[in-house]
Amino acid sequence: MGSNLAYIALGSNLARPESRIVSAFSELDALPETRLAAQSSLYRSAPISDIVQPDYVNAVAKIETGLDPWMLLENLLALELAHGRRRERRNAPRTLDLDILMYNDLVLIEKHLTIPHPRMHERLFVLCPLLEIAPDCVIPGIGRAQDLLSPLSGQVLQKMAE
Ligand code: AMP
Repeated sequence: MGSNLAYIALGSNLARPESRIVSAFSELDALPETRLAAQSSLYRSAPISDIVQPDYVNAVAKIETGLDPWMLLENLLALELAHGRRRERRNAPRTLDLDILMYNDLVLIEKHLTIPHPRMHERLFVLCPLLEIAPDCVIPGIGRAQDLLSPLSGQVLQKMAE
């Protein structure tokens, strides 16, 4: 297995999202040169969208991987496609969304890949599950995840029963 540490955000709001997220954890574990090192609880969040759509189920996974960030992204996009994800308009409902939140302490800004994920620090549904599995997490170039929570107190997030 590779020695890079990455955090992945998982989200779904279509077609049995809860079981979809649970199986996505195993699918991450089955990626080449990759091992699932930790998984958060599942959380329920209201969609950020002007389109009426179901609530999301969100979670965060910690993986160890030998894949470089670009290969990791390619593998995540393939998993999304395998779940029937179609590229539609921004913030449209989705069967499975997988985002690279962090990759070691890398800071990368490219057209198709930005790490740390550019909106992660504004989203309670990312920070809460992340802090559950990485309480001392520092987001490269941004700061301690714990210190980013207070402006997000208006966002509604519900931890789901185990
Ligand atoms: P979305 O499905 O709306 O999250 O957008 C997916 C697209 O965002 C992908 O095709 C990537 O090219 C791009 N992208 C940029 N940075 C990231 C990242 N950190 N993780 C996942 N996708 C990213």
